[in-house]
Amino acid sequence: MQFSQLGLLPELLRAVSEKGYSKTTAIQEKAIPATLTNQDVMASAQTGTGKTAAFVLPLLQQLTENKNNDKAQVRVLIITPTRELAAQIQDSVLTYGKYLQIKSVVVFGGVKINPQINQLRRGTDILVATPGRLLDLVQQKVVNLGKVQTLVLDEADRMLDMGFIPDIKRIQALIPKTKRTLLFSATFSDEIRKLARSMLNNPLEIDVAPRNTTIETVSQKIHPVDKNTKTSLLIHLIKEQNWRQVLVFSRTKHGANRLVKALTKAGIRSDAIHGNKTQGARTRALAAFKNHETDILVATDIAARGIDIVQLPLVVNFDLPNVAEDYVHRIGRTGRAGIQGSAVSLVSADEIKQLRDIERFIKTHLQRHEIEGFEPSQNLAESRSLSSPAPARINRSANHKARPKNRSESNHSQVKTARQGQSRQSNSNGSSSAPANHGRNRTRSFSPKPSVQRSRPSQAARS
Ligand code: AMP
Repeated sequence: MQFSQLGLLPELLRAVSEKGYSKTTAIQEKAIPATLTNQDVMASAQTGTGKTAAFVLPLLQQLTENKNNDKAQVRVLIITPTRELAAQIQDSVLTYGKYLQIKSVVVFGGVKINPQINQLRRGTDILVATPGRLLDLVQQKVVNLGKVQTLVLDEADRMLDMGFIPDIKRIQALIPKTKRTLLFSATFSDEIRKLARSMLNNPLEIDVAPRNTTIETVSQKIHPVDKNTKTSLLIHLIKEQNWRQVLVFSRTKHGANRLVKALTKAGIRSDAIHGNKTQGARTRALAAFKNHETDILVATDIAARGIDIVQLPLVVNFDLPNVAEDYVHRIGRTGRAGIQGSAVSLVSADEIKQLRDIERFIKTHLQRHEIEGFEPSQNLAESRSLSSPAPARINRSANHKARPKNRSESNHSQVKTARQGQSRQSNSNGSSSAPANHGRNRTRSFSPKPSVQRSRPSQAARS
């Protein structure tokens, strides 16, 4: 569909066209008209498919049409889990709203609060925020949320999990009950969906792909390897395959630092981004990577959600994440906006549980590919049937994440109310006849014993 068919203001169409977009993505086609109706919305679409514009464009339109002439007051509040994502959304608001008279401010922690206070005192229509800093500012009486008409939770499942929900509840209590809520994410576990429905008012539910699936533009594979040779394998792959612009995920901050040290020693330009770094260092590391001043950015999961790095070709999971959803978000940093990408995971024998959880979550067995010279001495156990029981929910405080109960449900490109959603037909084990993930270069066989390919280093498929 063309953007011009959506009834958007000429100023918005002009900004969109200057960005180089003519056609809408599937989520934009569904969510823009839904948002313009003023209803609550719960939307899921795969990573990198244009969710930001799907809510920013209609909100800018509504704010312009209902402009109040008083000093700007926060009428749209957008909450995100990470500072980098907040900054990125603010960039989108400024880009799409460049021909409109809508004010927007972004606030997040880790940087001086005074400039944010000064900006807020001048008034704003849109406030993009991370929860902690927002609550600080409310406590200091710098921001009043009493006029908020729309609350947007981006990466909504993360915002509603056990780590963030107390802050979200506090923020909700400060907002008028009459506001409407928009939830956007690439993943929603059934539990979070249930919680979300209880918070929303008869929401329109939009799903533009089978739920909790990885995007087809990302080819995925794993390299079984011993834990103690992962670093040498990574260095080998970077050099052998001349990898540039690779986002490497590490489960821990110390692991990320250790890895950067080893990569630097091997002459590889790399930096780390994680929660122990100052915000200045985080911002610089991301900017240097985007500008190609470093080749490898080693990140913890703070970089897994929402971050858009144009044409990032490759994501490496140095460790598998403990929570299957995080795998989807991590690899979703590549293969964005319709461009092909690759995801490679280095998996050691002790990570078999995480691997099985991920495979069950994405309903796909990942192709295994051993690299000559790095074959594991500790065998990586076989994958399991994709329909084996879902993992039990675990407490985020123990593991920092809530583990999902995953039941596959298929609903391609549907828009429906929650009530209609409840009558969705499912088969006897609670899952529908969802087609499996049809990723390019992906193992399509659902045998619990995926084949292992071996390759000489020089023949290894370029990732
Ligand atoms: P998002 O999912 O919002 O982070 O967007 C992912 C990427 O897609 C970003 O680089 C956007 O700039 C880009 N994008 C958003 N909408 C479109 C569109 N209609 N056509 C092409 N690219 C788009």
